[in-house]
Amino acid sequence: MKLSPEDRERYRRQMILPSWGEKAQRAIKESCVFIAGAGGLGSPVALYLAAAGVGTLRICDCGAVELSNLNRQILHADDQIGENKAVSALRTLERINPAVRVVPLSERIGSDNIASLLGPARLMVDCLDNFPTRYVLNDYAVRAAVPLVHAGVSGLCGQIAFIQPPQTACLACLVPEAPPTGVFPILGAAAGVLGCLEALEALKFLSGTGRLLKGRLLFCDGESMEFQEVGFDRDPDCPVCGSAARPA
Ligand SMILES: [Zn+2]
Repeated sequence: MKLSPEDRERYRRQMILPSWGEKAQRAIKESCVFIAGAGGLGSPVALYLAAAGVGTLRICDCGAVELSNLNRQILHADDQIGENKAVSALRTLERINPAVRVVPLSERIGSDNIASLLGPARLMVDCLDNFPTRYVLNDYAVRAAVPLVHAGVSGLCGQIAFIQPPQTACLACLVPEAPPTGVFPILGAAAGVLGCLEALEALKFLSGTGRLLKGRLLFCDGESMEFQEVGFDRDPDCPVCGSAARPA
């Protein structure tokens, strides 16, 4: 896909990156990304992917914007309360970068509709707040070999990894059982840090630049401001990607 004179001007500061250039910019313009969740993580992910010029963003969230979301979900403003989050995201992103195509999806993610929700997307970004739905994304990542940027955040802390089966372990190897759910504390800036890291991983993958967090889990502790990386391997007994898993 050719770049327009406006593209060259809008993306000038990233196109002069030695690793980026015209080739990377064209690659991301041709890309389609699935963003699961338009909340605390999905907000910075969607904003930065749109600002960077990713061609199509398929944003999925079945929830409506609530007042208690606004400390962290910076895609949404006070006058968008009550609107579906995917639609609200579209309205915000149109103003950030009208050249990006945003497809709002207001369905609940399940194993029965995940393939159609993704459409032509070649990357999934996990911006969810619960593990049961994360496992739906992970199953699809393993089954259809679509890479998944995983992140989670709670309080001032979070974690992120780049999952690309069969090259890497899957999310179920890493977190075999869903931790308990419920209303947990969260500071918007912490979600912002993790979401920005996810956006960075997504852009590196789409542009074919940099070194991804494959097989590496990065813990970010905003309270002590310590970042720690831990390697992780495939679990041969993993029920999703291990030898015990049924072939699709
Ligand atoms: Zn696994």
